[in-house]
This record gives sequence, structure tokens and C-alpha cells, in this order.
Amino acid sequence: MATPGAGERRETGDDAVTPMMRQYQEIKAANPNCLLFYRMGDFYELFFEDAAIASRALGIELTKRGKHLGEDIPMCGVPVHRSDDYLHKLIRAGHRVAVCEQTENPAEARKRGSKSVVARAVVRLVTPGTLTEDTLLDARSNNFLMAVFRAPSSTTNPGETFALAALDISTGEFLIAETQGADLAGEIARIAPGELIAGEELTGDQRLSAAARSVGAAVTSVPRTTFDSLAGERMLKAKLGVAVLDGLGQFSRAELATIGGLLAYVDITQIGAQPAILPPGRRGPANALVIDAATRSSLELTRSIGGGRQATLMSVIDRTVTAAGARELAARLSSPLIDPRAIGERLDAIEWLLQAPLLRASLRGALRSAPDLARPLSRLALGRAGPRDLKAVAVALCAAVELVRLIDAMVDQSGGLTGELALLRAALAATPDTLALELNAALAEDVPLLRRDGGFVRGGYREALDEHRLLRDQGRKVIAALQARYAEETGVRALKVRHNNVLGYFIEVSAANGEKLMAPPLNTSFFHRQTLANVMRFTTVELGETEVRIVQAGDRALAVELDVFDELAALVERHRPALSTCAAALGLLDHYCALAELAGEGGHVRPLVDDSRAFRIEGGRHPVVEDALRRGDGAAFIDNDCLLGESNGASNADGGNAPRILVVTGPNMAGKSTFLRQNALMVVLAQMGAFVPARAAHIGVVDRLFSRVGAADDLAGGRSTFMVEMVEAAGILNQATDRSFVILDEIGRGTATFDGLSIAWACVEHLHEVNRARALFATHYHELTALAATLDRAANVTMQVREWNDEIVFLHKVVPGAADRSYGIHVARLAGLPAAAVARAEQVLERLEGEERASGGAGLAADLPLFAAAADAAKAAKKGPSELEMALESANPDEMSPRQALEFLYRLRRLASGGPS
Ligand code: ATP
Repeated sequence: MATPGAGERRETGDDAVTPMMRQYQEIKAANPNCLLFYRMGDFYELFFEDAAIASRALGIELTKRGKHLGEDIPMCGVPVHRSDDYLHKLIRAGHRVAVCEQTENPAEARKRGSKSVVARAVVRLVTPGTLTEDTLLDARSNNFLMAVFRAPSSTTNPGETFALAALDISTGEFLIAETQGADLAGEIARIAPGELIAGEELTGDQRLSAAARSVGAAVTSVPRTTFDSLAGERMLKAKLGVAVLDGLGQFSRAELATIGGLLAYVDITQIGAQPAILPPGRRGPANALVIDAATRSSLELTRSIGGGRQATLMSVIDRTVTAAGARELAARLSSPLIDPRAIGERLDAIEWLLQAPLLRASLRGALRSAPDLARPLSRLALGRAGPRDLKAVAVALCAAVELVRLIDAMVDQSGGLTGELALLRAALAATPDTLALELNAALAEDVPLLRRDGGFVRGGYREALDEHRLLRDQGRKVIAALQARYAEETGVRALKVRHNNVLGYFIEVSAANGEKLMAPPLNTSFFHRQTLANVMRFTTVELGETEVRIVQAGDRALAVELDVFDELAALVERHRPALSTCAAALGLLDHYCALAELAGEGGHVRPLVDDSRAFRIEGGRHPVVEDALRRGDGAAFIDNDCLLGESNGASNADGGNAPRILVVTGPNMAGKSTFLRQNALMVVLAQMGAFVPARAAHIGVVDRLFSRVGAADDLAGGRSTFMVEMVEAAGILNQATDRSFVILDEIGRGTATFDGLSIAWACVEHLHEVNRARALFATHYHELTALAATLDRAANVTMQVREWNDEIVFLHKVVPGAADRSYGIHVARLAGLPAAAVARAEQVLERLEGEERASGGAGLAADLPLFAAAADAAKAAKKGPSELEMALESANPDEMSPRQALEFLYRLRRLASGGPS
């Protein structure tokens, strides 16, 4: 239980509002939306409603502490030394916590008067997006706090524009972006923040809450007034230490307002502590591949549809050996580029490392020993660092020196390092050796987590410290000698001198031996201090004096260590820019080595990414399915070509005459979805600057990637499976451009057959005629294969199967042509549908197929007007109101005489029957 200050202990059981409760209530009132961790000695205590919530969320006992206005005060507490675990649980459960510390010690409070309450203040609000402790964070993921602001519409900006700003306080990474309303959810999914803040008017927005829910982000409402562009500009300049922002690029007023909201919230939660912020990076639809939220989720890039990390693209490509490398890889995977030159530079780096396997192996070996540098640096800036953070800086710097040495040794032989790798080498070499030397000279080999534990400064580093330590250690030797002497004198061999935080040093004997210490005549006077169930505790004048000497020497030693800590932290601070660059370089180098390792391991090739409209993959594979097969029964993955757009070398920007759309048919379980997804993943991998799992790949850069695969409802959002499908399809048809890449799987399956077929039909035509995007369209509507005859840039491919002895073997090979059957009933049999149901299904199928043959899809395609003609007709039909409608619109029955009304009725009848007015 807690060790409260002396004045506070007397309050227990008091019916009136005690001074401590008054203090508690004042602090609680100032932090209404947080659970209040109220520091009392070695515990954080929670009271009233907070206690009930925390005890439920943490599974800890709910007790009571005295009374407040006649009622019991519910209470529960968590020990300070384990508070991180409890904080973690509460934050994960969606709570925010205000940490309230004692800002003076009980002795100081007593000096002010016997009833004075120990002064306390909230030192920090812990929220999901503002975490910095390693124990609260996932080392391999960023944890962004993201602010969203809707720009006011204007004549120059009539649409709905949002500005976004995201800061990972734990690493200093800072992103800004501007996006249209339609891309908002996609951008939130890309950054996947831990917490999303917005003005009160936005937090209720259905799109925002759905997007936040899909990435598991907490939504926090903040006052709209904090989104102030002038304040944002001022704060940004102050935080980055610049007089003007020009060097950082152009900022719109909406972006500055968002930055204002974000930084104001950081100030509120950090209460005076100043996180280090890196200059903002801009990523958004203008310079990154746009992947909407539904596509991101269906492709399972960094999160699986179930929400976990397993069986995602990230999980199978991640060969990084450091947390910073993993974060970099995830960031790049989430934001592929659209500039072929920048993509090419990344690919150059991988190719270079791929061709240097020995160097790569040594670099990865050295990287393994490099601790995360970004997070310790951030904790140092916030004043929340411990000795291990300084040690991490020292060790990371040594790793950087070693990496540079390894690169230089190799580059001498291989002749020159260029591009990205040359920049990385320079960044690793930028921190002066003096910093690492100083840190290594000052810090012991093994250092504790907390400053207050001391013992982290190396002996010999500071003379005064050595002296205090000597005195303290001598005192400890004196204690050991006292124990031996007292044991001899009293004849109690088991006598021990022990120490605890309440009594300090004391002599402990078993209860049975206690009498021996109290019975004179002994040379030493033993004073009784405590009797417990089995032991008795004593002290002596000598022991007390020795203790004072030890404590004083220990306190002085600690004070010197704390000074050394501050000096070293200030030294690190002076080198912050170079250290931040070094931290980023370590992550980048690891990520490049990892991608080269993956390429070597998986036989991946360098894709050619250019400005064409090509999409030509030879021998492509699905990395996740391939990995699952390998781990499963070891079956081989069958590679497949996907040849769209122009052929290699053709310069026709429109892609020559090669198909732009493939209609993929084939039996269930034959591999259609796998084929579609692997090609979409190919785009992501190539444009993030990675090699791809194929024999050859040529991809004309894609601006937007769309995937509609499989069905899912959005029950929380109040939308049925079919509605979700249609909303996603609408998003695709409304936004895909001739640079986009679209995969659509079984569109229209969620409704009646004819409705579904018609929708699927119209989607293919629209993609072909209007969007002109490269697309793969998998379907079980065989009628759609007839479209290849009327649409010049559509072609059919099918999944090959072999029928053998009434059995079907899926060959998983994509070949030209259309499937003639679905084999759905065969799959149903394999799945264990009762034999009677299977037999009945076969009967029904036979009947239905007989009827369908009479009116096949080919006839339908030939009979229907072409899409463009149909679209024109629809437009013409929509030209304006008909004469009948206009007549009705202009009539005013109140002013008509009965005769005029009758004539009007006749006129309407003529108009309705198509006659003259
Ligand atoms: P349905 O029409 O029922 O949705 P589908 O044709 O889309 O089926 P997929 O889901 O892509 O089929 O594939 C089914 C399974 O077949 C996969 O889980 C995988 O195990 C295997 N498979 C698919 N493609 C291949 C391939 N190219 N090589 C080896 N196995 C494959």
C-alpha cells in the first residue's frame, strides 16, 4: 500500500472533505477526460469512478480509503515500479491517463505545517498517440499522433480538402499531407496513427471514425480553436528553431492550422516537455501511390483483414534486423512512390547490395548490434531518458563507425559508392568521434534503467564520484564487520544486518533469540525497533552512525552521477541533428540490406519502372501464398504471366494494342484471387523500390491502385455486404485514371444473378471505355467473356484445370481463353456438403444450364448497344425535363378556373401520349 506523506495519513476515516481529497478533486477536475494516477509514496492511487474503471480494466482489487461526505471512497492502486505495465493495458483499452506526481517530499510539506498536503502536479498526460516508453510501444512500428483539419472551401478550392499532420513523438518523425475528401480514409490508413485528433465538428464524421476504427486509432476531440494557422506557424518555427519556414517548403494555411492543432495537443499532453521534431516530410496523393483504405485492407499490406500482423505482405518480406529498419520498411511499404527516377535510385541501392553478399552479411551483423537510436534521442529531448538511453546512443555510434569501416573496406575494392548508399555512408560518418569517445569513457558497461538507481558512471571518470563511492563502500564493509562482531558478542550466529526503505539498516534475529539481545550484560546496547511474527529487529548507535555516513556518501555519489547524466545529455543535445540523421541512416541501411537479402533469397528481379502504361509481369508469384505453401505441405507455387499494356520496348504511351483488361474466369479454388492480388502486390513492391517475385517485370508507374476482392460487411458502419461492395466499386469507377491499376474480384456477386451480371458487365465496360485503366477482372459470370469480342483492349484468360477420372486437378496456371464451367459443385463436394445436397445441386444445375444455353452471353453482347452509345443515350435521356414535366412545373392550380383546369388536364393527356402540346 502507498506510503503517504505524514500529514496525509491522518485523513483516513475522516468524514469531512480532507485537504488531500480537496487537492485530488481539484487536479481531477482539471483533467476530466483522463484517469488520474495520483502519486502517494510508492503507489499511484486511483479514486472514485476512476478506481472502478481501472480495477475492472486491470483486474486489480477495488478497496476503499476513508470516507468522503459520509460515503466510502473507492480506491485502487498500482505500484510505481510496475506502472508501465498497467499504463499499457489502460491505453490499449482506450483510456487516457494523467500522471500526477508528488512535487515535494513529505518532509518539505511538514515544514509548511503539520496538516499540509504534499504538493502534487500532473506532469504528463499519457494518450495512445503520445507514448515514448519502450515498454508502451511496439519497437518495430511507428506510433503517430495525427491531426485532421477540414480546409474551409473557397472559390479556388470548392471541393472538400483535408490537411493532415502526423507526429511520432517517440522518434520525431513528422509528416504532413493535403488530401481530397475521397482520399481521406486512404491517407489515415496509410499513416495508421495510434491516435487521431480533430475539432469537435469533425470527430463525429462517419468517414473519420470508420477510418480510425479500421486502423485501431483512438479518436480525441480537441477545441476547434486550436487549429489556428498563425499559432501553427509560430509553434512550428519555435519547435524547429527556424526564423522562416521557406527552407522547409510551402505550407498552405490549412496545413499550418493542422500543425497548430497537433502541436497544441502535444504541449497539453507533454506539459512543458519539448519533444524533438524532425523537419516535416510531405507525402500525399501528389507524390505517392494512392491506395484507398479498402484496397489497403484487402491487400493486407501491413495488417491482415483480421487486424493482426501475420500473413501480411510486411510479415513475409521483412528481413530487417533492427527496429528502425522494420519501421522504415513498413513506412515505405505504406507509401510507395510514383516518381520512376526516385524508385530507380532505391532499386540501385538494392542492386548494389545484392551484388555484394559478403559486405551485406557483415553490414547486417554490425546492424544487429545497433540499438534503436531514434527513441532514446526522443526520450532525451523530453527529459524522460535513463542511463540506458545514453548507452544506446554510445553503442549505436560505435555501430555506425563499424558500418562505415566495413563499407570503406569494400568500396576500395569495388570502386565507388553512389546515390542513396553514398548519402547513407555520409550520414553514418557525420557524428564526431569525440561524442562516442566521451560517452564510452563516462558510462559503465552495464547501466541501470533509471537514473535514480545510480551506478552508471564508470569508475575513474569523475574524481569526486570515486571518493564518495569509496566512503560508501567502506561504510558497507564496516556494516559487514559490525554484523560479525554482534553475532560473536551475542552468541546469535544467525544475526544479520539488513536494510529496507522504511527502517534503513537494522539488526535482525529470530524471535526466539530476541531475548538475548535485550538481556544485559552486553558491551553493546541493542535498541528494539520492531517485532514481526518470527523475527525481532534492533539497532545500535554505531549502526545508526554508520548508516548516516553511507547514506550521505551514497547521496553525494548519486548527485555527482546525476550531474554527469545532465552533462552527457546536453552533449548529445548539441549533436542532435547529426544523431537524428545517423538514426535515420541506420534504419535505411538496414531496410536496404533486408530488401537485398529478400531479393537474393526469393530470386526476385529488379522491375523496370517507367512512365509507360505497360504492365508486363513474367513468371510472377504471390509472396504470401508462396510462403504459406512452403510452410504448409511444401507445395510449389505456380508462377504466372500477366501481360497488359504495351509490350517491352514499345513507346506508344497508350500501350499499343495489347489488352488493358483481362477477364479472368476459372473454377473456384483455381487461383483467380491469388493471381489478381499478386499483380497488385507487384505494383506496391516495385513502386516502394523493392525487387519483385517474378522472372521479369516492366511496370508503367501506377498513380492509384484499387482492389476490390472478397466480401466484407461493415456492420459497425451500418452497411451490408453488397452495399460495401458497391461503395467500393463506385470509388473505383469514379477515381481510376488511365494510369491506375485495378483488380476486381467477383463484382456483383452479392445480389440477384441478373442484377449482379448487369453491374459486372457495366463495370468492365466503364473501366475499358471511361477509366481506361489497366485492370484484372475475375468473375464467375461466364457471359462476361463475350465482352472480349466487342471491347478491343479486353481479353480473356482462364485458370487451367485437368479433369481426370471424374476428378478435377487445379493447375493454377493462367492461360488465354475462357472457362466453360465453374466446378463449384465439385468444390462443394470437396468441402463436405452432404451427398444428397450435392446430387440435388447437380440436377438443378443441369436444368439451369439447359435454359441458359438458349440465350447465351455472346448473343447478349452482340445485341446490346456499345457502351459509349448506351452512355450517350442515357445522357440524352437526362438532357432536361420533358414537356410534360415542364407543363406540370409551370401550372398554378390555385389560379385556374374550372374550365382552364379541364383544358390543362386534356393537354397533359396529349403530352403523356406523345402528342403535340
Ligand atoms: P474462388 O473462386 O473460390 O474465390 P479462386 O479461384 O479465387 O477461388 P484462390 O483463392 O486464388 O482461388 O486460390 C485458392 C488456393 O489455391 C490458394 O489458397 C492456394 O493455396 C492455391 N493457389 C492459388 N494460386 C496458386 C498458384 N499459382 N500456385 C499454387 N497454388 C495456388
